[in-house]
Amino acid sequence: MARSGWVLALLLLVAGCTSGSRADDPASASSTPQASSVVASTAASSSAAVLTTARASAARPSASPSVSAVIPPVSAKARATGLVDIRTVVPDAVIDLRYATSNNFVGVRLYPVGARCLVHESMAPGLKVAADRLRRQGLVVVFWDCYRPHAVQVRMFQIVPDPDWVARPGPFATSHEAGRSVDITLAWAGTGRVCPAGQRVQGHCLLDMGNGFDDFTARAHAFATSGVSSVAQSNRARLRSAMGTGGITVYSGEWWHFNGPGSTVRRPHLNAPLS
Ligand SMILES: [Zn+2]
Repeated sequence: MARSGWVLALLLLVAGCTSGSRADDPASASSTPQASSVVASTAASSSAAVLTTARASAARPSASPSVSAVIPPVSAKARATGLVDIRTVVPDAVIDLRYATSNNFVGVRLYPVGARCLVHESMAPGLKVAADRLRRQGLVVVFWDCYRPHAVQVRMFQIVPDPDWVARPGPFATSHEAGRSVDITLAWAGTGRVCPAGQRVQGHCLLDMGNGFDDFTARAHAFATSGVSSVAQSNRARLRSAMGTGGITVYSGEWWHFNGPGSTVRRPHLNAPLS
C-alpha cells in the first residue's frame, strides 16, 4: 500500500477502533502470546473456579489434551459489576488481548500484563452457546479484546487527542466499556495443523478472515466482498453464524466486533480492573 494509503488506513483505524461507545475496535493480526487460554494459578483461592476442558473436548473432532485450569476469582469490583472471566464460560478460549501488548494502533501497552478477558454476565451464555457449536467443528474462539476499562479509553484519547480519530471519553459506558462487546476471530483447535508463524496463536492456526485487526480498510467490513476471498468470506460467515446462535451480533463495520444484549445502552462506568 502506498504510504498515503497506509496513513489513511491508520487514521481510519484510530477513528473507528477507539470509541468505547461505538461498535468497533482495533488490534493487529500478529499472534503475540500473552496469556494462556488455560492459565493455572498457584495463587488461586479456595473459591476459584476449577475447570477442565475435558468435558468440552469430548466432542471435539481433533482431540486436544484435557487441561485442568484454575481460574482465580475476579476482583470484588468486577464481580459487583457483573463481569466474569471468559475462561469460566468458554474453557478453551484463546486469550490474545492486543492492548496487553504494544502491538496495537497506539504502539504502547495499555492493559496490564496478564490482563483477563472479562465480559458482562449477560453476554456469557451466548458466547458459551457459540463456542460449544464451534468446538464441535474443531474450532476455538480467539479473543482480541473484551471489557475495556474507561481509563484505557481516556488514555487512548490522551495519546491521540483528536476527536475525529479517537472518540472523546464520555460519561457513560457502552460496548467494550460495558463489557458487552468482544473482538474475536477463529482458529483451528490443537496443534495438528501446520501454518505459518504469523497465523499461529498459542499453538492454534488462525482461519483466514481476509484481513487483520490492524487493517482497517473497507475489507474490514463484515460483509465485504471486494478484496476478500471466498474462503475468508465463508469463514467470516461461519463466525457470524455461530455467534448468532447465541444471540450475539456482528458490527457491520468490523467483522471481528460482536455485540451482546444491551451493548448500546448507556450505563455507568464499571471501573473494574482487568487483573
Ligand atoms: Zn470491538
